[in-house]
Amino acid sequence: MYNCIICRYHEIATKGNNRNMFERCLVENIRHLLRDVGVCRVHRVRGRVWVNRIDEGEFSAAELQAIRPCLARAFGLESFSPAVRLPVDMDRVREAALRLAPAVFDPIFAKQPQVTFRVRARRSNKRFPLRSQEIEIDLVTSIAKLYGDDRFRIDLGNAEVTLGCEVRDEFIALYFDRYPAPGGLPVGSNPRVLTLLSGGIDSPVAAWMVMKRGCPTDYITFHSAPYTPPETVDKVRGIAAHLNRFQISGRLHVCNLAPLQKLIRDHCNERMRTVLYRRAMLRIAEQVARRSDCRALVTGEAVGQVASQTIANLNTINRAVTILVLRPLVGADKMEAIRIAEEIGTMELSSVQVPDSCTVFAPSSPSTAVPVGLAEAEELKIPDYGGVIEKIVSDIVTIA
Ligand code: ATP
Ligand code: MG
Repeated sequence: MYNCIICRYHEIATKGNNRNMFERCLVENIRHLLRDVGVCRVHRVRGRVWVNRIDEGEFSAAELQAIRPCLARAFGLESFSPAVRLPVDMDRVREAALRLAPAVFDPIFAKQPQVTFRVRARRSNKRFPLRSQEIEIDLVTSIAKLYGDDRFRIDLGNAEVTLGCEVRDEFIALYFDRYPAPGGLPVGSNPRVLTLLSGGIDSPVAAWMVMKRGCPTDYITFHSAPYTPPETVDKVRGIAAHLNRFQISGRLHVCNLAPLQKLIRDHCNERMRTVLYRRAMLRIAEQVARRSDCRALVTGEAVGQVASQTIANLNTINRAVTILVLRPLVGADKMEAIRIAEEIGTMELSSVQVPDSCTVFAPSSPSTAVPVGLAEAEELKIPDYGGVIEKIVSDIVTIA
C-alpha cells in the first residue's frame, strides 16, 4: 500500500544560509544508497526528503525490505517511514487508515487483548478544515470502531502503536512505522579526511564517526611484508569495503612499513619502537593526505588504552606532523567502541585474527612516556630517514 517514504532530518534543519547545501548533499547520498533498488525517485520538499517510486505506484514488500537497510546507513537522516500519500481529503485519509490498520493490529491482537495507541497529526496546511487534534480524534475513533473501543488504550506519551498523519498543501501522508537512521551530517558536507585503518576494532569505528560528521574518508593501512602475511591487508580491504557502504567512495592506500621498521629495530632504543613506528605512520599519512586533498588524519586512538596512547606518547606521536589529527574515540572506553563496531557491522570483520604491522619487532616492555626530544634524537640515528620515508610513500599501492 505504501507509495512513498518520508525521510526526516534534524541537525540539518538547524543550519542557516547553507542549509540548502546540506539538503542537496543528503539527497545525493540517498540516491547513491538506493541506486541498486532502481525504482526510486528522491526529492526534497520543504524540510523533508521524499522517496517515491518512479512510476508513482506502490512499493512492493520486497522493495521496502531492500530500501530499509540502505536508508538506515544515510548519515544526516534521523528517521524514516514508509507512508501512503493521499489527496488532501479527510474521507480518503480515513479510508486509507482503515485499510492500513489490519496489517498492524491483527498480529498484535492475536497475542494480546489490548494495545496502547495514539495518532499524531501535523498540519502545515492551514487551510485544511480539521485541526490537528480533530484529525487525531477522527482517526482514533474510526480505527477503534473497527475492532471495538475496549481494545484500545489511548496513550499520548508512550504508545505501542503510533499512526502519523502529515497534512501538507499538496498531499497528506499517513504512516505507522518509524525506523531509526544514524543522524549526523550527510557525507560530503565536510571535507575529505584520511583514516589510518588497521585491522583492529577502533579505527573502523573512528572512520564511521567522522563520516557521521559529514567527512568522506579515504584509508591508509600499514603492513610489514614479508613479516606480516597477505591476509593482514586482505582483512583491511574487507573492512574498507564495508565502511564504503556508508559513503559514495573511499580509496585504500596500502603501505609497507617494514623497510623503516627494520632500521628502527637496528638503530633505535627498543622500548621506543612503537612510538617511532607511529610517528612514521603519521608522517607518511600526512604526505598522502596532502597529495590527495584530505584535510585531516583520523585514528582510533583513545587516551590510556595502550602504552602508545598515554598522554605523553600521544603528544610525542602528534608532534611528528602539522596536519590536524582527529581522534573521535579519544574519550571512549573499549566497550563503547565494541558496541558501535557491532552496530555498524565491523566487529565481525575485526575479530579475524591476523598479525598486525605494529607487533613486528614489538618490544616486550614499551615505554609509556617517550619525550619528544628523545624520539627525535632516535630518528636522527637512522641513516637517511627522510629518504626512506619518501621511498616508502612512492611504493604505496592505491586501491580504488
Ligand atoms: P585499532 O583497534 O584501531 O587497531 P588499537 O587499540 O589496536 O586500535 P593501536 O593498534 O595502538 O590501537 O593503534 C592506534 C591507532 O593507530 C589505530 O586506531 C589506527 O588508527 C592506527 N594504526 C595502528 N596500526 C595501524 C596499521 N597497521 N595501519 C594503519 N593504521 C594503524
Ligand atoms: Mg591495532
